[in-house]
Amino acid sequence: MADRRTRITRATRAGLAWDQQHHAVVPPIYLSTTYAWTKPGESSGYEYSRSSNPTRSLLADTIADLESGAGAEITASGMAALTTMVAAFAPAGSVVAIPHDCYGGTWRLFNALAGKGQFELVSVDFTSATSMAELWPRRPALVLLESPSNPLLRITDLATVIEAAHGVGAVVAVDNTFLSPALQRPIELGADIVIHSTTKFLNGHSDVVGGAVVGATPEIVQELRWWANCLGTPGGAFDSYLTLRGLRTLGVRMKAHCENAQALAELLAQHPAVSATHYPGLTDDPGHDLARHQQDGFGGMLSFELADLAAAKRCLTGLTCFSLAESLGGVESLICHPASMTHAAMPPDVQAAAGISDGMLRIAVGIEEIHDLVDDLRAGLDRARRS
Ligand code: PLP
Repeated sequence: MADRRTRITRATRAGLAWDQQHHAVVPPIYLSTTYAWTKPGESSGYEYSRSSNPTRSLLADTIADLESGAGAEITASGMAALTTMVAAFAPAGSVVAIPHDCYGGTWRLFNALAGKGQFELVSVDFTSATSMAELWPRRPALVLLESPSNPLLRITDLATVIEAAHGVGAVVAVDNTFLSPALQRPIELGADIVIHSTTKFLNGHSDVVGGAVVGATPEIVQELRWWANCLGTPGGAFDSYLTLRGLRTLGVRMKAHCENAQALAELLAQHPAVSATHYPGLTDDPGHDLARHQQDGFGGMLSFELADLAAAKRCLTGLTCFSLAESLGGVESLICHPASMTHAAMPPDVQAAAGISDGMLRIAVGIEEIHDLVDDLRAGLDRARRS
């Protein structure tokens, strides 16, 4: 029978009736690396924890359910999820397309593999019809999308781009790290694969590095899981346990992230020190209408531009509610300088093409009391203005 409960309730209650032996409310953690066979040729279903592990399976099934997928594999990091996906779905000599403004580590991985001659790589602006018109005749085997993009929060029309990519026979993967399935479900828009850095919103507490790769069909899931086992990319049981614990509060956290981000974006948009604010929740943002239609909320990430690096440094020095740190999706607010931090792997010309300037700062908005965040950021912006 179909589970009629909402995603939020399913996330909160994942695995609560799982322990049939002692009826523990919170499901136990299985740390064993190996499992006894009943007899030769007959295992219990679990054999060795690189191939599968009960705690990892519970998290994988939960994330697959939330993403409307057929199944998932939990990996040791978001990069391990991308590595598994690319090993499985980028044949030798094929054309692979990635967003021109994707996460810096993703850019580095795909460029490094292309540099080894594994495939031909094309960087595409998936918000530009002209850029995409040049891609389709090259018949890419694999297309990776990120929406919203990092750090400019550009919104890609996922259903339209996925349909066009399928038209030329491509497998389409969407990195859904920035929104989580609480706010966007790419498989429902036609994607074949969803990637997560669970390090971010899914775990939500900045204490686990992990990833997930979700397949839309059992065949895709089987391929992904085969490659994960082959490469050794799966995540550990303890990390899976912690991530499942974090996932239980996904609904309330995402609501608070969105509310706080909207308030900060409105502050930034009217402050004289700020030349541009990138947040799809602002009505004049170029991605606003599409995000309203495609997403269930505008998310907890935003970026903005100050005059130059010196102004950015003045803003950062003295903040008390924003830690200067990479990453995102934790309950605490983080601020970073993409050009020298998250996107440092991109050379300056690639950063410029992606729209990343020296005066840009990115905020991963946390769930602190909004008045504290507003007061602290306003003081930083006032400092940025004083030269
Ligand atoms: N995808 C996105 C959108 C990210 O922001 C990140 C990391 O910041 C990754 C993938 C890689 O994830 P991880 O750091 O867990 O390997």
